[in-house]
Amino acid sequence: MNRPSASKNGKRPKIGITMAPDERDQGFAVVPVQNIPAHFVRAVWEAGGLPIPAPTTAVPPAASAEYVDMLDGLILTGGGDVDPANYGQPRHELSTRIVTERDTREIELTRRALARGMPILAVCRGMQILNVTLGGSLHQDLITAGRDDHQLNRPPRGGSHKVTITPGSLLAHAIGTEYLQVNSLHHQAVHRLGKDLQPVAVAPDGTVEAIEITGKSWALGVQWHPEWMYQEDPKQLGLFRAVVHQACSGARRNRII
Ligand code: MN
Repeated sequence: MNRPSASKNGKRPKIGITMAPDERDQGFAVVPVQNIPAHFVRAVWEAGGLPIPAPTTAVPPAASAEYVDMLDGLILTGGGDVDPANYGQPRHELSTRIVTERDTREIELTRRALARGMPILAVCRGMQILNVTLGGSLHQDLITAGRDDHQLNRPPRGGSHKVTITPGSLLAHAIGTEYLQVNSLHHQAVHRLGKDLQPVAVAPDGTVEAIEITGKSWALGVQWHPEWMYQEDPKQLGLFRAVVHQACSGARRNRII
């Protein structure tokens, strides 16, 4: 059961999962920590990858290069809002939970991964980081922008709105269907698309719910959280299988180069 769907010389490809800075009160002190939701770890393992934590604070910028050298694939995880300074806008009062050090590290990881042809699966905030890295911008608050409320799921296991997927896209291949019910735990979304990105799923109100890179690279961003949904809806594991599969072929390509 749960045998890898793809392998790199018989080994699981190393899939980096970016960690979210947080704090934990341990009684004697409030300690800075970095978290990865266990759902991501389990999903990567079940898809055949080896989950590797990738720090986003407490290491110098040069660490990004070493992580990208070691990894075969990258997952950008969810979290607080991206500092709008990264896309040249003043901070709206509803942009919250900003950690500029995490932004900087994830943008650097993304830039280096793309340069290496490393596959990227970008989830929620991660999709926003992918867009911003490539020069795109975000709606800082969807309701303020005249869109529907997208902070709907409590808890997030079930779907709360439909998305329509572009036929023939990487996303369509990964999921295997044209319509999907997804959870929705975001108040920001892609506004101006970054360079070489195209929208591949939209919500009924027109909000971009998935983006992917054109050309030879493999990078796919989804605005929902498949890691919360795949146990009830196995189609969602297809996203993790897709990045693991690409990580196997990408690793071979990098070695030849
Ligand atoms: Mn949504």
